[in-house]
Amino acid sequence: MRIVEARDGGLCRLKLPGGALTAAGAQAVAEAARRFGNGAVEITNRANLQLRGIAKAQQASLIDHLLAAGLGPPSAAADDVRNLMLSPMAGLDPTAALDTRPLAASLLQTLEQQPRFHALSPKFAIQLDGGEALAELHHHHDLWLSPLWLAGELHVALGCASAIAEAPPVAAVPASEGMALLLAVLDRFLALAGPAPGRMRELLASLPAAALLDGLPVASQRGPFTAVPARMSPPALGLHPQRQAGEVAVGVAPALGRMPADSLSALARLALDLGDGQLRLTPWQGVLIPHVARGNAGLLQAEAQALGLLLGSHEPLAALVACTGSAGCGRALADTKADALHLAGLLGQAIPVHLSGCPRACAQPRVAPATLLAVSPGRYDLFLRDASAPGFGRPLGRALTLQEAAAQLAACSWSTLND
Ligand code: SF4
Repeated sequence: MRIVEARDGGLCRLKLPGGALTAAGAQAVAEAARRFGNGAVEITNRANLQLRGIAKAQQASLIDHLLAAGLGPPSAAADDVRNLMLSPMAGLDPTAALDTRPLAASLLQTLEQQPRFHALSPKFAIQLDGGEALAELHHHHDLWLSPLWLAGELHVALGCASAIAEAPPVAAVPASEGMALLLAVLDRFLALAGPAPGRMRELLASLPAAALLDGLPVASQRGPFTAVPARMSPPALGLHPQRQAGEVAVGVAPALGRMPADSLSALARLALDLGDGQLRLTPWQGVLIPHVARGNAGLLQAEAQALGLLLGSHEPLAALVACTGSAGCGRALADTKADALHLAGLLGQAIPVHLSGCPRACAQPRVAPATLLAVSPGRYDLFLRDASAPGFGRPLGRALTLQEAAAQLAACSWSTLND
C-alpha cells in the first residue's frame, strides 16, 4: 500500500505469506504489471514480488486491483508487519522436522489483526524454519525459530537478531509452544523498545538477551545450544522430492530475478495444468511449482525453458546476482543487471558473482564468493570472499571492465570461489 519512488517510477512490493502464491494471484500480479507497471515482475530475495515503473496516477488503481485479488493486508496498518520467511519447501520436504505453515498462518493472522503489533518496524522480520533441506539460513532476522530435538522431544529453538547460520539459538520450547513464545517475546520487545521500536539488534546492543527472555509467561530452556545445521546451497533449481509420494517440486528461475509478466502468466498456467495451482517463490529469486507428478516434471521444465527461464545451477546466469542498478536506483554507479547479462556471456560457466551498484549490497544477504562493486558505468572493483578480510573480502582488481573481470574470475579456481 506504500508505493515508493525510484528512478524508474513507483515501486510496489507485494509481501506474500511465506512466499506462497496461487495461480490466480500470479495472474493478477501479471495483469497488474502489464496495466499499471513496466510489464515486468521481479522476485525479491525475501521471496516477495515487486512491480516497477508505476505512474503516480495509476497507484490507487494498482492498489485496488491487488487488494481485489486478495494480495494485500486486511488493513493498511497491517501492511508492514508481514515479513515472515519460510522455506519454499515448507510442508513438502520429506526430511523436514515440522511443517511451519500452520504456525505461520496463525502468526500472520495475529500480527495483522492485533493493533499493538502494527508498531513494529516495517523491516522487523521473522523466519520459521522447519528443518527443510532447502532453506535460506543467511538472511538476518529479528526473530527466528528452528527445530531442535531435546531429550527425544521436538522443540523449536529461538534466535534473536541474527541469521540462523550465523548464531546459535538462545532458548527453546516444545514445538507446540512456539507461537506462545514468539508472541511473548514480541510483547517484551515492544515494551522494552519504547515508542518507536526499531530492530531487535538495536535493542540487544544495549540489553542482554536475558532481559528479553527472563520472566516471560512461557517457560523456556536456555542454551548453550549448538548451531543449526547447514543446508543445501541456492539457487534451488531442478527437482525436489516431496513427502507426497510420486510428486516433486520443480524449481525454475528468471534471469536475475526479473521476468516479463507474460512468463508469470505462463507459469501460473503450468502450475494449474501440471501442479496443484500453487507457486512458491524462493529467496533465491526463483519459483518452485510443487505437486508435479514426477513423470510430468520434464514437460514442465521444457515449457519453462521455452519461456527463457533457467532450469539448472550449471547455467552461467543462474550463478549471478545483481541489484536493480542504475536503470532503477539513484545510488547505482553502473547498470548492474545489464552488465550481469553481458558478464554471463563472457564467463560461459557458472561462477557465483554478485554485481552491486553500491556498497549497500541489497541483492545479496551474505557476502558472495565473488563481488563486483560498481565504481563507474561498466567498471567494477573485484573482491573474493575471505573470512580474514572485512567487507566483500580480498580485493583482486580495481575499476575493471567486464572483460577484465571475467578474465580474472576465470583464472580463479572453482573451489576457491564456491567454498
Ligand atoms: S545495492 Fe545500491 S545501487 Fe544496488 S539497488 Fe541497492 S542501493 Fe541501489
